[in-house]
Amino acid sequence: MKLPIPEYIASIVPYPPGKPLDELERQYGISNAIKLASNENPWGPSPKATSAIAAVLADLHRYPDGSSYNLTQALAKHLACPPEMLVLGNGSNEVIEFLVKACMQPGDEAICSHPSFLMYQKFVQIRGGKNIVVPLAQMRHDFETILARVNERTRLIFLDNPNNPTGSFFAKDALLQLCRALPPTLVLVLDEAYVDFVDPAQSFNSVELIQQQTDGPLVVSLRTFSKAYGLAGLRLGFGIMPAPLAAMLHRVRQPFNINTLAQVGALAALEDSAHYQRTINGTRAGMAFLHEELHKLGCVCHPSQANFFLIDVGGDANRLYEAMLYKGVIVRSMHAYGYANCIRITVGTEEENARFVTALGECLNELHYG
Ligand SMILES: *Cc1c(COP(=O)(O)O)cnc(C)c1O
Repeated sequence: MKLPIPEYIASIVPYPPGKPLDELERQYGISNAIKLASNENPWGPSPKATSAIAAVLADLHRYPDGSSYNLTQALAKHLACPPEMLVLGNGSNEVIEFLVKACMQPGDEAICSHPSFLMYQKFVQIRGGKNIVVPLAQMRHDFETILARVNERTRLIFLDNPNNPTGSFFAKDALLQLCRALPPTLVLVLDEAYVDFVDPAQSFNSVELIQQQTDGPLVVSLRTFSKAYGLAGLRLGFGIMPAPLAAMLHRVRQPFNINTLAQVGALAALEDSAHYQRTINGTRAGMAFLHEELHKLGCVCHPSQANFFLIDVGGDANRLYEAMLYKGVIVRSMHAYGYANCIRITVGTEEENARFVTALGECLNELHYG
């Protein structure tokens, strides 16, 4: 069959769908499996969010508010910026898509790091753009090489900070220095999906920075309700950017891209600061516990400012992933990302962390890693 599909679409590698938990349990003959593979919030959503969602279920015959007015106003207040600087998306993934759609034409270039979040490259490919992929240097974004790859076709630079999957973080000074060296004709996208977990002594206010940045590149911050707010299944993220750029992104979005449940759920989650703070505290405590236990097991744990660790297990990560599955613990092998001996694990509840550490110790022994 001859499909009317351009080569830049046909050559896209489809996203490998993860196996649902119950499917894995059947396949491996296990029960009560725990998933520490997707950087989700192990404590779940705010109960206030779930009740707010339940309360609007009977209104689902109506279209959502196309401007997400209430949520946008609340976010603007929370972030201390004008609502005109915000663009909401069906997950922050959708805002990445808007940026690529609005800024790039076929043949234009976007720069990102590897390993890093894979969706940047995917959207650029869909648009017929060219991905310039710069390897991390010592697990960190390599600003020097990124700068060297900028040319007159560069439209976007994607930097996840903290980086997924290493958890590495760059400070404000490094960012300002990069901005000074970049031409004003491109957009620097800071994907701050994990910003909530960053050590307050190191974190910086990117919203302020975006507002102060009057010359040099346009800076965009991406945020999400999928991680600290525990609403990955609801799909809500947003971008913070100069208002003129936001106005362009609104032109490429569907009028009802944010569904009714996401609008009320995210608003309630934003207002439940106690639940949010419990997540942050639980994440810090869990990360400290894991760091110490992994060290005892002889694993190299890369410094992380996020809710996950990249861990060198001293042997093939795919085999360890399989062995962990039989113990009912789902981790992420980083073999396919070029880290043959590394897994990425997300912090879990206290009980999940303890189960993970026990299972890992057993697997390392069984596989004679170390
Ligand atoms: C998890 C994650 C996101 C979140 O994407 P959503 O579409 O908001 O769920 C974005 N960027 C990175 C780097 C992530 O790891």
